[in-house]
Amino acid sequence: MEPQDIFCKIARGEIKSDKILEYFNWMVLPAIDPVVDPPKYVQLLVAPKGHYPDFQSLPEYARNSHDEVIFKMLRALERSGMLQGYLIESHVGKASGASFPDHFHTHIITLGEGCGREYSTELNRLKKYSEKHKVKPDIAIINETAERIKQNL
Ligand SMILES: [Zn+2]
Ligand SMILES: [Zn+2]
Repeated sequence: MEPQDIFCKIARGEIKSDKILEYFNWMVLPAIDPVVDPPKYVQLLVAPKGHYPDFQSLPEYARNSHDEVIFKMLRALERSGMLQGYLIESHVGKASGASFPDHFHTHIITLGEGCGREYSTELNRLKKYSEKHKVKPDIAIINETAERIKQNL
């Protein structure tokens, strides 16, 4: 049976997602994140189209192109005026507390003025979110942001 995680479903086209970039076997997706507040806070997900649980199981060409994808996205974020500070974090395995522990992926999270340490961990971001946004993620803002980044690739 094919893997049923969200990244594999997106890669197979079973779930629609507007990919910001497809590069070799990588795809970059806007995170459906309620905190998204450009240019201050933007979150992108970089995931392989193939199902690999962790970094060490990626084939060599995918390991090498991972850094290139990150580089391209950082440059695009920079040109979009959305890059002051940033975090790059990969979530691997259930023990990491990852929401999607079975499929390797890397988060690019931009942090602007005022974000600071409050936003520097997943748990803090979620806490902040539940305090601040009692609403669902704003898909319009997420899509607009993704479009703006795409134009700067
Ligand atoms: Zn998968
Ligand atoms: Zn994650």
